[in-house]
Amino acid sequence: MTTESLPAPVPTRRKELIDRLAEPRQYDLAVIGGGATGLGVALDAAARGFSVVLVESHDFAKGTSSRATKLVHGGVRYLAQGNISLVREALHERTMLLANAPHLAQPLAFVMPSYKFWEAPFYGVGLKMYDALAGKAGLGPTEFLSRTETLGYLPTVQSQGPNGCLRGGVKYWDGQFDDARLALALARTAARKGALLVNYCAATGLIHENGRLMGLHVQDQESGRSFALKAKCVVNAAGVWVDQLRLQDGQAIGRETRPMVAPSQGVHIVVDRSFLPTDHAMLIPKTADGRVLFAVPWLGKTILGTTDTPRHDLAREPLPFKEEVDFILRESARYLTRAPRPADIKSIWVGLRPLVKPPDDDAGNTRALSREHTVLVSKSGLVTVTGGKWTTYRAMAEDVLNKCFGANLLPARTGKVTAHLKLVGARASKHKISDAPGAHLYGSEAEAVQSLPGASRELGGGLTEAMVRFAARHEYARCVEDVLARRSRLLFLDAALASSMAAEVAALLLQENGVDPQLDAFLALCGQYLSLPADAA
Ligand SMILES: Cc1cc2nc3c(=O)[nH]c(=O)nc-3n(C[C@H](O)[C@H](O)[C@H](O)COP(=O)(O)OP(=O)(O)OC[C@H]3O[C@@H](n4cnc5c(N)ncnc54)[C@H](O)[C@@H]3O)c2cc1C
Repeated sequence: MTTESLPAPVPTRRKELIDRLAEPRQYDLAVIGGGATGLGVALDAAARGFSVVLVESHDFAKGTSSRATKLVHGGVRYLAQGNISLVREALHERTMLLANAPHLAQPLAFVMPSYKFWEAPFYGVGLKMYDALAGKAGLGPTEFLSRTETLGYLPTVQSQGPNGCLRGGVKYWDGQFDDARLALALARTAARKGALLVNYCAATGLIHENGRLMGLHVQDQESGRSFALKAKCVVNAAGVWVDQLRLQDGQAIGRETRPMVAPSQGVHIVVDRSFLPTDHAMLIPKTADGRVLFAVPWLGKTILGTTDTPRHDLAREPLPFKEEVDFILRESARYLTRAPRPADIKSIWVGLRPLVKPPDDDAGNTRALSREHTVLVSKSGLVTVTGGKWTTYRAMAEDVLNKCFGANLLPARTGKVTAHLKLVGARASKHKISDAPGAHLYGSEAEAVQSLPGASRELGGGLTEAMVRFAARHEYARCVEDVLARRSRLLFLDAALASSMAAEVAALLLQENGVDPQLDAFLALCGQYLSLPADAA
């Protein structure tokens, strides 16, 4: 496709979005929550020709969907738990995601180093099963590696590890992606299909009539203006926050509603690429206390993580526990020749997994809770979807739509409409997701970004003035955090660098949007992403 034949990026002017929100009309579908799940539902419904509105109380992907390990995966560890159908579905979804957004999601080779004689054959056989389950959706064959090959792929892996001498390893394939930019691509593709998506607009209440859900109240978080939206069907895709709306719904129709989400916290730390200078990820399937540890090359840095810790509050910016950071540093030190120290940490970020709780569970052990998604339709017609994972957002959306049809909330329009739907910007790239960030992440829109003022003025970390302008004009960015945390990923990659660039980004956003770009709030957030829990390591 030539540049001329590409559709121009659609503007995301706030005033126009809010004016549309104010129009009196009835939508087919209203979605609450602009993470992977809600955006997937909005896109699927819009692609089927339904009228759709989606409201997100903060920014798209501000919740869990920007805090993943960045893997597009079948879930090797779920295979170990015998969850074959979950793994098979995710492996097939993996292929579609890589094909529909090749600028943001690509194959990634993983290496498991082995130190005990049984490790390579044991894990290798499991991974051959993983290949078999993938079938044609496989990204490459699992291979047994010699010690020399393992050191070639992971140059800084300990040759004398915790359990003896490095013997070899196993290499297998999965994928990786830029989660927040993928969320944005979903939002923008849905908008192209006619959906109205508004960030910084919260669902503040549900509208019932005679026990039926008829719509919702929303509030623009910038102006404070409130609107009542009518919809035939309301989908609650609020991630770990779904229960707040479910409880409201239950109260309105006089039914007892029990919480369904057991949040589990996952921490990642980011260090310089020199700790693992390779395009291959390292997977330690069983750390000293039986957990999994990843070291993943991503956007020029290395991500180390993650953890799985039950949590009872639902903070927007949860803090890591000391034990979690200690665990990641301690275990990384056992496998890498240069041990990362607290001073080497460029950023620490925390996400909350919306795990679905069985009714009689006490949520004490979140590692045992379901990783599958759940869709519930309440007596009033509120459709709640939560759980699952980023990789399966598309299949989850199909499931939600099918449930809406089954409950007669929408007229059935069946088919896998998004299976081959290319997302905005889709263009194969010679760059890897593990490369340092740059124009390649814009895919087929790179030229449109280049045409804006300041294309050759880099502010730092691969971010140019033109990219900030593009974020404001076409990517719904309102404040410094939107640009430095999710349009570019610098808060997650190097919080000190993000902090040093924040004032310049703020000045550009003020010029573009004419509203307060929330500089001080962002500087405080950078401090949080840089600070260790008291006494870590
Ligand atoms: C540490 C960690 C690592 C992970 N790694 C991976 C991985 O590598 N690969 C993978 O496939 N999956 C991974 N996952 C899982 C994946 O990230 C999640 O399943 C997915 O992001 C959940 O998306 P969601 O849309 O349901 O929730 P969220 O992304 O949290 O979206 C919910 C949204 O609803 C909004 N909201 C809440 N209340 C309201 C309201 N009243 N009005 C309007 N909006 C509202 C919130 O602001 C939020 O943006 C990981 C999860 C964690 C925690």
